Amino acid sequence: MMSDKLSLPVILQAHGISRRKFLTFCGSLATLMALPESMVPAIAAALEKAQRPSVIWLSFQECTGCTESLTRSHSPTLESLILNAISLDYHHTLQAASGEAAEAARLAAMRQFYGKYLLVVDGSIPTGDGGVYSTIAGISNLDMLQETAKGAAAIVAVGTCAAFGGLPHAHPNPTGAVAVSDIIRDKPIINISGCPPIPVVITGVLAHYLTFGAIPELDALGRPKAFYGESIHDRCYRRPFYDQGKFAKTFDDEGARNGWCLFELGCKGPTTFNACATTKWNQGTSFPIESGHGCLGCSEPNFWDAGSFYQALSTPLTPVGRAAAVAAAAGIVGGAAIAMHNRHTKAAAESGHQTVTVKDLEKPPGEEK
Ligand code: SF4
Ligand code: SF4
Repeated sequence: MMSDKLSLPVILQAHGISRRKFLTFCGSLATLMALPESMVPAIAAALEKAQRPSVIWLSFQECTGCTESLTRSHSPTLESLILNAISLDYHHTLQAASGEAAEAARLAAMRQFYGKYLLVVDGSIPTGDGGVYSTIAGISNLDMLQETAKGAAAIVAVGTCAAFGGLPHAHPNPTGAVAVSDIIRDKPIINISGCPPIPVVITGVLAHYLTFGAIPELDALGRPKAFYGESIHDRCYRRPFYDQGKFAKTFDDEGARNGWCLFELGCKGPTTFNACATTKWNQGTSFPIESGHGCLGCSEPNFWDAGSFYQALSTPLTPVGRAAAVAAAAGIVGGAAIAMHNRHTKAAAESGHQTVTVKDLEKPPGEEK
């Protein structure tokens, strides 16, 4: 429990992480959360505090990829060290206790910090046949979520399964899997979608909560705007090729070798909101598009049911779209025309804080969200 824990500075020192590196990390979090540099000391102080809000982490119907994403078992990252150090009092996958001892730990954490703890959930919740498809210590995920949510100050739904139902929710959804927000209606819920979600986004949201004692500004799907405010396409380094209408046609053609846009190979970047192109993966090394594969759209609802990952998004069927398609056949103007149309559609949606879907891109101008 919390009283047994080493302080964050001690843990970081034990892993050879200097104060300078820690402050640099806090600076990166501030930048990612669109906070001024002057907030860096406040973030560092909040993360270092001895007394911290408790975090109870429940894993339901999932593949453990979300926890793997965060901990990256091969080497502890600053993100995972901070998460462990700040407050993680109960975690199904990471804790040593099991069975009745684990349940006792959950109940003890709930009692001690009732009304104050942060509840983190990964995995969807099966509701079919009374929730029998996933149980822990004989308690259905449905019952455990409802019971644990009662004493939570806020809930963080980590990963697309917890945020939107994810793979278990995909057709035909035999277990009746739903998202946390389908069950819990009376608590603030932060959705950190992604399959898996980006580790630094999880840490960033927790750091924001610990620093300000409040949840960050959210979009219409309950995701923090600081990380999900722009599409992959908005930040993609291949975007100039899209705008010029230069598309790879196969994964090994001349266009692919030249780093051209992967739109025609099924990239869902234009309709996917996430921070991959900015934060990247594996400690800022790269992200899928940089490795030559299109975005799958993993941070959006129902992405498993959206057709083949390798089928291109439809080109707009509006007059602009048709003109663009004709132009595309004739030359490079098409990409720019499509881009202009899609930008207009996205801008209209963003002003209402809504996410653009494939269907929205096909609507005539003026009928978008
Ligand atoms: S369609 Fe995909 S590869 Fe092309 S610019 Fe957009 S996000 Fe990048
Ligand atoms: S690039 Fe797309 S599919 Fe890949 S992790 Fe990011 S949002 Fe998910």
